[in-house]
Amino acid sequence: MSDSSIDEAATPRRSFAAHIFAPIKITWDQFIDLLVPFRHSTHIRRHAASVTISRVQLVAALFAVLVPVCSIVDWFVFPWPEWAQMTAMRLASSLVFLGLAWPWNMSKSRLQADGMLMAMLLVPPIFYLMSIRIISGLPLDPFSLLATKLYALMPNIVLAGLAIFPLTALEVLLFSTPAFAFAVIGYVMNGEALSLAQHGPELWLMVLVMGVAMFSGMSQLHYMAALVNRAMVDPLTGAYTRRSGGETLDLLFRLSALQNSPLSVAFFDLDKFKSINDTFGHDEGDRALKALAETLKAGLRKGDVLVRWGGEEFLAILNNTDAEGARIVIQRLRDAGLGMRPDGKPMTASVGVAERSADQAKDWPELIEAADQRMYQAKKTGRDRAVLPGGVTLVFGPPIA
Ligand code: GH3
Ligand code: MG
Ligand code: MG
Repeated sequence: MSDSSIDEAATPRRSFAAHIFAPIKITWDQFIDLLVPFRHSTHIRRHAASVTISRVQLVAALFAVLVPVCSIVDWFVFPWPEWAQMTAMRLASSLVFLGLAWPWNMSKSRLQADGMLMAMLLVPPIFYLMSIRIISGLPLDPFSLLATKLYALMPNIVLAGLAIFPLTALEVLLFSTPAFAFAVIGYVMNGEALSLAQHGPELWLMVLVMGVAMFSGMSQLHYMAALVNRAMVDPLTGAYTRRSGGETLDLLFRLSALQNSPLSVAFFDLDKFKSINDTFGHDEGDRALKALAETLKAGLRKGDVLVRWGGEEFLAILNNTDAEGARIVIQRLRDAGLGMRPDGKPMTASVGVAERSADQAKDWPELIEAADQRMYQAKKTGRDRAVLPGGVTLVFGPPIA
């Protein structure tokens, strides 16, 4: 039976929320992640930012073309010079959209994604307010009245547009505020006194549209986070996969080189693991791997990263840790124990440690290579030991043949 089916059977309470959000079960922790953006992992944040930016670019490209084309309507329904002013405004909006759609060389950070989204959301309400200034005072026939009514829908369109982005509830609220603010300013500019009877239904409709957008944004975010986690986390051990571990290491290595801060990696290869499979079966081997990953994760600090590099090979990325710090970590992990083999004997590993500046590594693959070589040295010289930079060796037990 897979782990997820065990969880579902044990916790039927979750299924209600699961049916609402996606065909994937959702925990309270995940639900809170859909309300506020602060708790997401770097990977989810980066992914959400990149999805947001590409969608802003797509919509902006579409608007950059459609907005000036709609001038044709203005030419028919408004007199000179109003139609020319409207066209000028359309061209200006189109330029902003073009700037947003342009394939600049971008860092694709969350901040940049939020900035681009906000810029895109501000254009239609500003357009709406300026159109009020241009058109107010004109004698309106039924057609031009229809056109101005359509402009007044701009804030609603902005709110509905939020539905295509993977956003938390709080973000949808924040990104909705300009639409509400501009709608209210629009009433005032039209010379209307704010009244519940007149504006209440319109504002209520906006709240409903925002609610739908919020639901859609949260649902998308949840689905995206589930897919990203599925791709990045090894389902058996909960450690990062080799691919996502490599991406993390690449980022941490560059930061460490930039700030000249230490960065260590510890490569673990379990000793005589194959004999567990051979004697007790593959399931027992899997259980031992899972228990080991949990023990390692519990022993590492919050900023450290555990990666399942291969079958029974794990990589601990020790951020901001020099070789001496890594020695302390390895000693502590080994003292706490790496779990038990099914025969009751302690699990042991051969460990190779490398550190960016001590090993003068130019890139992260060089760092891994140095740690891998030391791990083999630990294997060759008797297993259950760690080889560190500078020939330092920690011997934990008698040699294992
Ligand atoms: P050594 O001390 O020399 O490392 O001996 P070893 O038996 O651990 O040798 P090696 O590292 O070459 O063997 C790795 C074994 O790990 C081979 C494979 O049967 C087992 N293995 C790899 N991935 C998994 C897995 O996902 N589940 C289980 N149960 N076993 C795995
Ligand atoms: Mg191995
Ligand atoms: Mg091994």
